[in-house]
Amino acid sequence: ARHFLARGARHEALGAYLATSEEVTLAQAHGADARLAGGDTAPLLGVPIAHKDIFVTTDFPSTAGSRMLEGYRSPFDSTVVLKLKGAGAVTLGKLNCDEFAMGSSNENSAFKPVLNPWDTTRIPGGSSGGSAVAVAARLAPAATGTDTGGSIRQPASFCGITGIKPTYGRASRYGMIAFASSLDQAGPMARTAEDCALLLSTMCGPDPDRDSTSLDAPAEDFTRTLNDSLQGLRIGVPKEFFGEGLSADVRAAVDAALKEYGKLGAVLVPISLPRTELSIPVYYIIAPAEASSNLSRFDGVKFGHRAEKYTDLTDMYKKTRAEGFGDEVKRRIMIGTYVLSHGYYDAYYLQAQKIRRMIADDFQQAFKHCDLIAGPVAPTVAWKLGEKSDDPVASYLADIFTLPASLAGLPCMSVPAGFGAGGMPVGLQLIANHLQEVRLLNAAHRLQ
Ligand code: GLN
Repeated sequence: ARHFLARGARHEALGAYLATSEEVTLAQAHGADARLAGGDTAPLLGVPIAHKDIFVTTDFPSTAGSRMLEGYRSPFDSTVVLKLKGAGAVTLGKLNCDEFAMGSSNENSAFKPVLNPWDTTRIPGGSSGGSAVAVAARLAPAATGTDTGGSIRQPASFCGITGIKPTYGRASRYGMIAFASSLDQAGPMARTAEDCALLLSTMCGPDPDRDSTSLDAPAEDFTRTLNDSLQGLRIGVPKEFFGEGLSADVRAAVDAALKEYGKLGAVLVPISLPRTELSIPVYYIIAPAEASSNLSRFDGVKFGHRAEKYTDLTDMYKKTRAEGFGDEVKRRIMIGTYVLSHGYYDAYYLQAQKIRRMIADDFQQAFKHCDLIAGPVAPTVAWKLGEKSDDPVASYLADIFTLPASLAGLPCMSVPAGFGAGGMPVGLQLIANHLQEVRLLNAAHRLQ
């Protein structure tokens, strides 16, 4: 823990951490030592790990990357954090992210950007940019992230690490500051699939009293099939993921990884996910709609920021929200409120829900012909800081390959595939059917 704290301090300019405390971390580390001395065999005893600042924690402030929650202390730990602590993990601190997890570059953090350690003029991806950079720059052996529309997979891809979003409902959302509740999922980000499997085995499990969408699926040992043979595994390759929007360098790295699977005995099967393009408008209606509802709790009364001067209650709400939220969050609240409003609900929100179902059905059709799906995570490598910050739509379009699996609630991951333009890392995306995380991790592990 001392080593990682010192390394974190030395590389503070990367912007990965929002909060650290030597006192808290070392106290937890000593606690782990004592458990070890007492014969405790918890699986992560003494393993240092850092958390995306979307997970509420009692030992550190929890901000979700927003001024709205600056300095906020939660009275409880999120279930995922609690489970990891129970397994013996030691918290290194809280990691930077896009405000309320809205973004693809980490530039929407209210506090500071995060720099990609492979090239510090580039973004690390988002919204779990701090988590990806902490692992890539070896400021932490592993980190937690959350993925609503790609926020684990895309920064993992851009920073050359491994990250998995489990099936929706596998990990409890209790204590994860909500963005879009029907999509939000927690997952680990680490160097390898094996490390991810170890963490995921602790993070998952039913939590029916605290998260009504938590699945009634028992916690599993996700490491048990890591070394299984891939002989005969059918890997579906969706043609829509290899269209003209995909840059040549990323395509080359992904093709090379697919070829590697061929050598490992897998069979590549051409498939189609015909509504891939629609996942962008569908996601950018549903996610803002849910966000506009979830973020209504930040009104200056119960949590965090409250405007100093105001004339009456309505004025207090208005000033608090105007001051506390950043531009992207405000944009999404406005879009979400609009698509849910009377007269527009049927045309936008309801329509989006119907297409969401069709996108999920397309995956079920595809899984009749294959066991796993593989393709790129993002159309390009990490872009330059500032390149898309004035153009939210350009940023939304770059989410095209991660959104479909999110809308369908499927487990999916990013595993390092090679390098593209500027020597930047490229991830391969793997998608499995519901509750088939072991298949994903097995395939990812064999590639590493
Ligand atoms: N980039 C997507 C968005 O901005 C996904 C973010 C996420 O998964 N949290 O909403």
